[in-house]
Amino acid sequence: MQRVVVIRYIILFIAFSLSLFSATVRHNLWEKGLDFEGYLKKYNIPHEIVDILDKDDIQLISEIDNNRKIYEMVASNGVLLQALIPTGEELQLHLFRTPAGYSVEVIPVAYKKDTYITQLLVKKTPYLDIIKTVKNKRLAKEFTKVLKSSVNFRAIKKGDKLAIIYDQKMRLGQPIGIPDIKVALLESAKKRHYVFKHTDGKYYDEKGKELVKKYMGKPLRHIRVTSPFTHRRFHPVLKRWKAHLGIDFGARRGTPILSVANGKVIFSGWKGGYGKVIKIRHADNYVTLYAHQSRLKAKVGQIVSKGQVIGYVGSTGRSTAPHLHFGLYKNGRAINPMRMVKFSSKGLHGKGKKAYLRRKRRYIKIINKIFDENRPSYVWNTVQERSVSPEMKKHYKNIGW
Ligand SMILES: [Zn+2]
Repeated sequence: MQRVVVIRYIILFIAFSLSLFSATVRHNLWEKGLDFEGYLKKYNIPHEIVDILDKDDIQLISEIDNNRKIYEMVASNGVLLQALIPTGEELQLHLFRTPAGYSVEVIPVAYKKDTYITQLLVKKTPYLDIIKTVKNKRLAKEFTKVLKSSVNFRAIKKGDKLAIIYDQKMRLGQPIGIPDIKVALLESAKKRHYVFKHTDGKYYDEKGKELVKKYMGKPLRHIRVTSPFTHRRFHPVLKRWKAHLGIDFGARRGTPILSVANGKVIFSGWKGGYGKVIKIRHADNYVTLYAHQSRLKAKVGQIVSKGQVIGYVGSTGRSTAPHLHFGLYKNGRAINPMRMVKFSSKGLHGKGKKAYLRRKRRYIKIINKIFDENRPSYVWNTVQERSVSPEMKKHYKNIGW
């Protein structure tokens, strides 16, 4: 009884507060082509409020795109009371009305992560069929990427079959971020091709051969990660949520910094919190950034080769100790360098290989079961019906997912 009363009061309170403001809550997709400045203009909000944000946040703002679902609370007279606008995968702008006007802050996105299964017959191509069935373009992309070095995609025919087990973050019923494929299976011409993600985050085939080739080199001869790439972390100095759009490597002042690939220097100089920084453009629209240097060695316009010394580790800009902040961008968007840069050249061998093969055998058992039982694919808007069964969840737990 007690609980019913409480709930009734909560409902009354919500109804009361809504009638007080007579506000409407709505979920919209971010308008195509709209930038944040345009959004502020739409609600007559002075764009100066952006001044309290720093460079990294501004970089995030430029990543808002039309696939993002935004939340708005608007008063009956059209005044925006508050809005939540995801700027990337894990952070969002909270824009809200204050007695003095408006303010904006960066806060984490609330999401739910779960393991999903997809299993389907190929009708056109794996890429198109995954998009059609699962409504997840990024899953289709990832699947193609992890399998393309071991499977001839041109030989795939109608009637071939595939299965994927993956983790996906969800927000407001939409997938966010890159799906994390754990196992993928493609059966083509009666042969089963498997791809497995190992505990080191890399993909291997059945025999333990690494599949996704990472073509970039290391930015320092000896690598020690002190802060990983993340779309959100609570900044210890600034005491607020911030993205860390690169990897920090600890190193002594004066340690040579190496270009990770052939390219052309597009920036060499001082840039705010980054201090002395070099940016290099590489093939396929990749750009790398090397920050907090003590001394720059490469000039704008200079052509550099993979492994060439371009500067020296320092602590310039917003930095408390000598380290290299290394960023990787594709088409202007920050991506996790761990996905592209080869940080260790060692393949699997000895004990590590044995552990992988054990893990793989368990993986095969699970995905074969899904495959042979023809489990239906999960479709985004019916989460409850098609998400992982408790029995499968136990399986995953046992193998340490
Ligand atoms: Zn950093």
